[in-house]
Amino acid sequence: SKIARVTTLGDLPLRDDLRGQTPYGAPQKRVRVALNVNENSHPIPEDVAHDIIARVAQALLTINRYPDREFTELREALAGYLGHGLTAEQLWAANGSNEILQQTLQAFGGPGRTLLGFAPSYSMYPILAAGTGTTWIAGDRDADYELSPQTAAAWVERTSPDIVILCSPNNPTGTPLSLGTIEAVYAASRGIVIVDEAYAEFAPDGTPSALTLLPGRERLIVSRTMSKAFAFAGARLGYLAADPAVTDALRLVRLPYHLSALTQAAAIGALAHAGEMLAMVDEIKEQRDRIVTVLGELGYSPLRSGSNFVLFGGVEDTSAMFDQLLERDILIRDVGIPGHLRVSAGTEAETTAFLEAMAALSSKS
Ligand code: PMP
Repeated sequence: SKIARVTTLGDLPLRDDLRGQTPYGAPQKRVRVALNVNENSHPIPEDVAHDIIARVAQALLTINRYPDREFTELREALAGYLGHGLTAEQLWAANGSNEILQQTLQAFGGPGRTLLGFAPSYSMYPILAAGTGTTWIAGDRDADYELSPQTAAAWVERTSPDIVILCSPNNPTGTPLSLGTIEAVYAASRGIVIVDEAYAEFAPDGTPSALTLLPGRERLIVSRTMSKAFAFAGARLGYLAADPAVTDALRLVRLPYHLSALTQAAAIGALAHAGEMLAMVDEIKEQRDRIVTVLGELGYSPLRSGSNFVLFGGVEDTSAMFDQLLERDILIRDVGIPGHLRVSAGTEAETTAFLEAMAALSSKS
Protein backbone atom coordinates (compact mmCIF):
# COMPACT_ATOMS: atom_id res chain seq x y z
CA SER A 1 0.00 0.00 0.00
CA LYS A 2 1.17 3.49 -0.77
CA ILE A 3 2.05 5.72 2.13
CA ALA A 4 0.93 9.28 1.47
CA ARG A 5 3.84 11.64 1.93
CA VAL A 6 3.00 14.56 4.16
CA THR A 7 4.20 17.93 2.91
CA THR A 8 6.21 19.84 5.51
CA LEU A 9 7.36 23.46 5.65
CA GLY A 10 10.75 22.21 4.51
CA ASP A 11 9.18 21.29 1.16
CA LEU A 12 7.89 24.81 0.58
CA PRO A 13 9.78 27.80 -0.80
CA LEU A 14 9.30 29.59 2.53
CA ARG A 15 11.29 32.77 3.30
CA ASP A 16 14.64 31.71 4.81
CA ASP A 17 14.16 34.05 7.78
CA LEU A 18 10.88 32.31 8.69
CA ARG A 19 12.36 28.80 8.73
CA GLY A 20 12.42 27.36 12.23
CA GLN A 21 10.17 30.10 13.66
CA THR A 22 7.29 29.17 15.97
CA PRO A 23 3.79 30.64 15.52
CA TYR A 24 1.88 32.33 18.36
CA GLY A 25 0.67 29.41 20.37
CA ALA A 26 -1.62 29.96 23.35
CA PRO A 27 -3.39 26.58 23.68
CA GLN A 28 -7.06 26.73 22.65
CA LYS A 29 -8.98 24.28 24.81
CA ARG A 30 -12.62 24.11 25.87
CA VAL A 31 -12.58 24.26 29.65
CA ARG A 32 -14.88 25.31 32.47
CA VAL A 33 -12.49 27.96 33.78
CA ALA A 34 -10.41 29.64 31.03
CA LEU A 35 -7.90 32.00 32.61
CA ASN A 36 -5.10 31.72 30.05
CA VAL A 37 -5.28 34.59 27.56
CA ASN A 38 -6.14 37.59 29.75
CA GLU A 39 -9.63 37.94 28.35
CA ASN A 40 -12.44 39.66 30.18
CA SER A 41 -14.53 36.76 31.57
CA HIS A 42 -17.67 38.88 31.78
CA PRO A 43 -19.99 38.92 28.77
CA ILE A 44 -21.00 42.40 27.61
CA PRO A 45 -24.30 43.74 29.04
CA GLU A 46 -27.28 42.38 27.16
CA ASP A 47 -28.87 45.78 26.47
CA VAL A 48 -25.60 46.98 24.96
CA ALA A 49 -25.42 43.79 22.89
CA HIS A 50 -28.88 44.53 21.50
CA ASP A 51 -27.90 48.06 20.52
CA ILE A 52 -24.75 46.73 18.82
CA ILE A 53 -26.83 44.12 16.96
CA ALA A 54 -29.12 46.89 15.67
CA ARG A 55 -26.12 48.90 14.45
CA VAL A 56 -24.51 45.86 12.81
CA ALA A 57 -27.87 45.03 11.17
CA GLN A 58 -28.04 48.58 9.79
CA ALA A 59 -24.50 48.26 8.41
CA LEU A 60 -25.48 45.00 6.72
CA LEU A 61 -28.09 46.80 4.63
CA THR A 62 -25.28 48.55 2.73
CA ILE A 63 -22.72 45.75 2.93
CA ASN A 64 -22.51 45.66 -0.89
CA ARG A 65 -20.41 48.84 -0.58
CA TYR A 66 -16.87 49.10 0.80
CA PRO A 67 -16.73 50.53 4.31
CA ASP A 68 -15.45 54.02 5.20
CA ARG A 69 -11.74 53.56 4.49
CA GLU A 70 -10.97 56.35 6.95
CA PHE A 71 -13.33 55.01 9.67
CA THR A 72 -13.90 58.64 10.65
CA GLU A 73 -16.86 58.13 12.98
CA LEU A 74 -14.99 55.40 14.84
CA ARG A 75 -11.88 57.57 15.20
CA GLU A 76 -14.03 60.38 16.58
CA ALA A 77 -15.60 57.97 19.08
CA LEU A 78 -12.16 56.68 20.12
CA ALA A 79 -10.85 60.23 20.57
CA GLY A 80 -13.89 61.00 22.72
CA TYR A 81 -13.30 57.93 24.84
CA LEU A 82 -9.60 58.64 25.42
CA GLY A 83 -10.01 62.36 26.17
CA HIS A 84 -6.69 64.15 26.82
CA GLY A 85 -7.69 66.67 24.12
CA LEU A 86 -7.03 64.09 21.39
CA THR A 87 -8.60 64.58 17.96
CA ALA A 88 -9.78 62.04 15.38
CA GLU A 89 -6.73 62.69 13.16
CA GLN A 90 -4.50 61.44 16.00
CA LEU A 91 -6.42 58.16 16.24
CA TRP A 92 -5.99 55.05 14.15
CA ALA A 93 -7.66 51.65 14.45
CA ALA A 94 -7.11 48.13 13.17
CA ASN A 95 -8.18 44.53 13.71
CA GLY A 96 -6.85 44.18 17.23
CA SER A 97 -3.80 45.94 18.63
CA ASN A 98 -1.79 43.09 17.11
CA GLU A 99 -2.56 44.63 13.70
CA ILE A 100 -1.81 48.10 15.07
CA LEU A 101 1.64 46.88 16.07
CA GLN A 102 2.12 45.05 12.77
CA GLN A 103 1.27 48.16 10.72
CA THR A 104 3.62 50.21 12.89
CA LEU A 105 6.45 47.76 12.21
CA GLN A 106 5.60 47.72 8.49
CA ALA A 107 5.89 51.50 8.36
CA PHE A 108 8.82 52.09 10.68
CA GLY A 109 10.65 48.74 10.87
CA GLY A 110 11.49 46.22 8.17
CA PRO A 111 14.70 44.72 6.73
CA GLY A 112 17.83 46.42 8.06
CA ARG A 113 15.93 47.94 10.98
CA THR A 114 15.65 46.94 14.63
CA LEU A 115 12.99 46.68 17.32
CA LEU A 116 14.05 46.77 20.98
CA GLY A 117 11.81 45.31 23.68
CA PHE A 118 12.43 44.24 27.27
CA ALA A 119 12.07 40.52 27.91
CA PRO A 120 10.07 38.83 29.19
CA SER A 121 7.31 40.73 27.41
CA TYR A 122 4.37 40.08 25.09
CA SER A 123 5.26 37.02 23.03
CA MET A 124 3.96 38.57 19.79
CA TYR A 125 6.66 41.26 19.66
CA PRO A 126 9.43 39.01 18.28
CA ILE A 127 6.88 37.26 16.04
CA LEU A 128 5.69 40.56 14.55
CA ALA A 129 9.34 41.56 14.11
CA ALA A 130 10.03 38.31 12.24
CA GLY A 131 6.97 38.69 10.03
CA THR A 132 7.99 42.20 8.98
CA GLY A 133 11.69 41.35 8.57
CA THR A 134 12.62 43.58 11.51
CA THR A 135 15.52 42.46 13.74
CA TRP A 136 14.36 41.85 17.30
CA ILE A 137 16.58 42.93 20.18
CA ALA A 138 15.66 41.58 23.63
CA GLY A 139 16.76 43.97 26.37
CA ASP A 140 16.86 42.95 30.04
CA ARG A 141 14.79 44.08 32.98
CA ASP A 142 15.73 44.84 36.59
CA ALA A 143 14.94 42.62 39.60
CA ASP A 144 11.28 41.51 39.82
CA TYR A 145 10.87 42.37 36.11
CA GLU A 146 10.73 46.10 36.85
CA LEU A 147 12.20 48.50 34.27
CA SER A 148 13.92 51.63 35.59
CA PRO A 149 14.59 54.71 33.45
CA GLN A 150 18.34 54.05 33.76
CA THR A 151 18.19 50.41 32.65
CA ALA A 152 15.87 51.13 29.72
CA ALA A 153 17.73 54.21 28.50
CA ALA A 154 21.08 52.38 28.71
CA TRP A 155 19.72 49.69 26.38
CA VAL A 156 18.47 52.32 23.96
CA GLU A 157 21.84 54.09 23.96
CA ARG A 158 23.75 50.85 23.49
CA THR A 159 21.60 49.45 20.64
CA SER A 160 20.23 52.63 18.94
CA PRO A 161 17.05 50.85 17.78
CA ASP A 162 14.71 52.13 15.07
CA ILE A 163 11.73 51.26 17.28
CA VAL A 164 11.38 50.65 21.02
CA ILE A 165 8.34 48.87 22.40
CA LEU A 166 7.39 49.30 26.05
CA CYS A 167 4.54 47.23 27.45
CA SER A 168 2.72 49.16 30.19
CA PRO A 169 1.73 47.31 32.32
CA ASN A 170 3.91 44.51 31.04
CA ASN A 171 2.56 41.18 29.82
CA PRO A 172 3.25 38.49 31.10
CA THR A 173 4.58 39.95 34.35
CA GLY A 174 1.79 42.45 35.09
CA THR A 175 4.34 44.99 36.29
CA PRO A 176 3.40 48.65 35.82
CA LEU A 177 5.80 51.01 34.05
CA SER A 178 6.53 54.54 35.24
CA LEU A 179 6.14 57.54 32.96
CA GLY A 180 9.74 58.32 33.93
CA THR A 181 10.94 55.23 32.06
CA ILE A 182 8.94 56.19 28.97
CA GLU A 183 10.31 59.76 29.06
CA ALA A 184 13.87 58.49 29.48
CA VAL A 185 13.51 56.03 26.58
CA TYR A 186 12.04 58.72 24.34
CA ALA A 187 14.81 61.17 25.21
CA ALA A 188 17.51 58.54 24.56
CA SER A 189 16.07 57.29 21.27
CA ARG A 190 16.11 58.56 17.71
CA GLY A 191 13.25 56.33 16.54
CA ILE A 192 9.66 55.43 17.20
CA VAL A 193 8.65 54.62 20.79
CA ILE A 194 5.54 52.46 21.15
CA VAL A 195 3.86 52.19 24.54
CA ASP A 196 1.54 49.17 24.49
CA GLU A 197 -1.22 50.02 26.97
CA ALA A 198 -3.42 47.00 26.25
CA TYR A 199 -4.24 46.72 29.97
CA ALA A 200 -4.26 50.43 30.89
CA GLU A 201 -7.83 50.45 32.24
CA PHE A 202 -6.84 47.99 35.00
CA ALA A 203 -4.20 50.33 36.47
CA PRO A 204 -4.75 51.69 39.99
CA ASP A 205 -6.98 54.79 40.01
CA GLY A 206 -5.04 57.95 39.27
CA THR A 207 -2.25 56.19 37.31
CA PRO A 208 -1.29 58.54 34.46
CA SER A 209 -1.37 57.13 30.92
CA ALA A 210 1.42 57.62 28.39
CA LEU A 211 -1.24 59.60 26.49
CA THR A 212 -0.26 62.52 28.75
CA LEU A 213 3.22 62.44 27.17
CA LEU A 214 2.03 62.80 23.55
CA PRO A 215 2.14 66.61 23.21
CA GLY A 216 5.52 67.57 21.71
CA ARG A 217 6.59 63.94 21.14
CA GLU A 218 5.90 63.16 17.48
CA ARG A 219 7.74 59.80 17.62
CA LEU A 220 5.58 58.46 20.48
CA ILE A 221 2.75 55.99 19.82
CA VAL A 222 0.31 54.79 22.48
CA SER A 223 -1.40 51.52 21.55
CA ARG A 224 -4.68 50.38 23.13
CA THR A 225 -7.25 47.65 22.61
CA MET A 226 -10.95 46.95 23.20
CA SER A 227 -10.10 43.27 23.79
CA LYS A 228 -9.50 43.48 27.54
CA ALA A 229 -11.33 46.10 29.62
CA PHE A 230 -14.11 46.48 27.00
CA ALA A 231 -14.69 42.69 26.89
CA PHE A 232 -14.59 42.92 23.10
CA ALA A 233 -11.82 40.45 22.20
CA GLY A 234 -13.92 38.63 19.62
CA ALA A 235 -14.69 41.83 17.72
CA ARG A 236 -10.98 42.56 17.04
CA LEU A 237 -10.56 46.27 17.60
CA GLY A 238 -7.25 47.83 18.55
CA TYR A 239 -6.26 51.47 18.19
CA LEU A 240 -3.48 53.96 18.73
CA ALA A 241 -3.04 57.62 19.52
CA ALA A 242 -0.11 59.56 18.10
CA ASP A 243 0.85 62.60 16.07
CA PRO A 244 -1.32 62.95 12.90
CA ALA A 245 1.85 62.36 10.84
CA VAL A 246 2.06 58.83 12.31
CA THR A 247 -1.43 57.97 11.10
CA ASP A 248 -0.41 59.36 7.68
CA ALA A 249 2.52 56.94 7.68
CA LEU A 250 0.22 54.01 8.50
CA ARG A 251 -1.94 54.81 5.45
CA LEU A 252 1.06 53.72 3.36
CA VAL A 253 0.95 50.15 4.69
CA ARG A 254 -2.64 49.41 5.70
CA LEU A 255 -4.76 47.38 3.34
CA PRO A 256 -7.57 49.38 1.75
CA TYR A 257 -10.77 48.96 3.80
CA HIS A 258 -8.97 46.92 6.46
CA LEU A 259 -11.71 47.59 9.03
CA SER A 260 -14.96 45.98 7.97
CA ALA A 261 -18.22 47.93 8.14
CA LEU A 262 -19.45 45.38 10.70
CA THR A 263 -16.39 45.92 12.91
CA GLN A 264 -16.75 49.69 12.68
CA ALA A 265 -20.46 49.58 13.54
CA ALA A 266 -19.88 47.22 16.46
CA ALA A 267 -17.03 49.26 17.91
CA ILE A 268 -18.92 52.56 17.57
CA GLY A 269 -21.83 50.91 19.40
CA ALA A 270 -19.59 49.63 22.18
CA LEU A 271 -17.97 53.06 22.61
CA ALA A 272 -21.41 54.69 22.82
CA HIS A 273 -21.90 52.59 25.97
CA ALA A 274 -18.35 52.86 27.31
CA GLY A 275 -19.48 53.31 30.90
CA GLU A 276 -21.59 50.15 30.90
CA MET A 277 -18.97 48.20 28.95
CA LEU A 278 -16.30 49.07 31.53
CA ALA A 279 -18.55 48.40 34.52
CA MET A 280 -16.81 45.12 35.39
CA VAL A 281 -13.28 46.58 35.45
CA ASP A 282 -13.41 47.35 39.19
CA GLU A 283 -14.70 43.85 39.93
CA ILE A 284 -11.86 42.33 37.87
CA LYS A 285 -9.31 44.47 39.72
CA GLU A 286 -10.75 43.15 43.01
CA GLN A 287 -10.33 39.56 41.83
CA ARG A 288 -6.77 40.33 40.68
CA ASP A 289 -5.90 41.77 44.10
CA ARG A 290 -7.51 38.72 45.72
CA ILE A 291 -5.31 36.42 43.62
CA VAL A 292 -2.19 38.33 44.71
CA THR A 293 -3.21 38.15 48.39
CA VAL A 294 -4.27 34.50 48.48
CA LEU A 295 -1.34 33.17 46.42
CA GLY A 296 0.98 35.06 48.78
CA GLU A 297 -0.72 33.41 51.76
CA LEU A 298 -0.26 30.02 50.08
CA GLY A 299 3.48 30.65 49.91
CA TYR A 300 3.85 31.67 46.25
CA SER A 301 5.47 34.90 45.09
CA PRO A 302 2.98 36.90 43.02
CA LEU A 303 4.37 39.98 41.28
CA ARG A 304 2.68 43.34 41.68
CA SER A 305 0.14 43.74 38.90
CA GLY A 306 -1.52 46.72 37.22
CA SER A 307 -3.33 44.48 34.75
CA ASN A 308 -6.06 41.82 34.73
CA PHE A 309 -3.66 38.95 35.36
CA VAL A 310 -1.02 37.86 37.85
CA LEU A 311 2.35 36.20 37.33
CA PHE A 312 3.38 34.16 40.33
CA GLY A 313 6.68 32.49 41.20
CA GLY A 314 7.58 29.80 43.69
CA VAL A 315 6.13 26.96 41.60
CA GLU A 316 8.32 23.88 41.91
CA ASP A 317 7.12 22.08 38.80
CA THR A 318 5.25 24.39 36.44
CA SER A 319 4.18 21.76 33.93
CA ALA A 320 2.89 19.45 36.70
CA MET A 321 0.89 22.28 38.25
CA PHE A 322 -0.46 23.33 34.85
CA ASP A 323 -1.60 19.74 34.24
CA GLN A 324 -3.13 19.33 37.70
CA LEU A 325 -5.15 22.51 37.20
CA LEU A 326 -6.21 21.32 33.75
CA GLU A 327 -7.43 18.05 35.32
CA ARG A 328 -9.75 20.29 37.35
CA ASP A 329 -10.88 22.00 34.10
CA ILE A 330 -8.92 25.16 34.88
CA LEU A 331 -6.67 26.52 32.13
CA ILE A 332 -3.90 29.00 33.01
CA ARG A 333 -0.69 29.89 31.15
CA ASP A 334 2.86 28.62 31.28
CA VAL A 335 4.72 31.55 29.73
CA GLY A 336 8.07 29.80 29.85
CA ILE A 337 9.51 31.66 32.85
CA PRO A 338 11.09 29.04 35.13
CA GLY A 339 9.15 28.54 38.37
CA HIS A 340 6.36 30.90 37.28
CA LEU A 341 2.82 30.63 35.94
CA ARG A 342 0.37 33.32 34.81
CA VAL A 343 -3.33 33.46 35.60
CA SER A 344 -6.00 35.90 34.41
CA ALA A 345 -8.44 37.37 36.93
CA GLY A 346 -11.82 35.84 36.08
CA THR A 347 -15.28 36.23 37.48
CA GLU A 348 -15.54 35.81 41.24
CA ALA A 349 -16.64 32.18 40.74
CA GLU A 350 -13.80 31.39 38.31
CA THR A 351 -11.25 33.03 40.57
CA THR A 352 -12.60 31.06 43.53
CA ALA A 353 -12.32 27.81 41.55
CA PHE A 354 -8.70 28.62 40.70
CA LEU A 355 -7.72 29.66 44.22
CA GLU A 356 -9.45 26.64 45.82
CA ALA A 357 -7.62 24.34 43.42
CA MET A 358 -4.34 26.06 44.27
CA ALA A 359 -5.01 25.64 47.98
CA ALA A 360 -5.78 21.95 47.50
CA LEU A 361 -2.69 21.37 45.35
CA SER A 362 -0.45 23.24 47.77
CA SER A 363 -1.61 21.35 50.85
CA LYS A 364 -0.88 18.03 49.10
CA SER A 365 2.78 18.84 48.52
N1 PMP B 1 -0.58 43.76 23.60
C1 PMP B 1 -0.55 43.02 24.70
C2 PMP B 1 0.41 43.38 25.78
C3 PMP B 1 -1.37 41.90 24.83
O1 PMP B 1 -1.31 41.15 25.93
C4 PMP B 1 -2.27 41.59 23.78
C5 PMP B 1 -3.22 40.40 23.85
N2 PMP B 1 -2.91 39.38 24.65
C6 PMP B 1 -2.26 42.40 22.66
C7 PMP B 1 -1.42 43.48 22.60
C8 PMP B 1 -3.12 42.12 21.45
O2 PMP B 1 -4.45 42.14 21.72
P1 PMP B 1 -5.54 42.42 20.60
O3 PMP B 1 -4.93 42.13 19.26
O4 PMP B 1 -6.65 41.53 20.95
O5 PMP B 1 -5.87 43.88 20.73
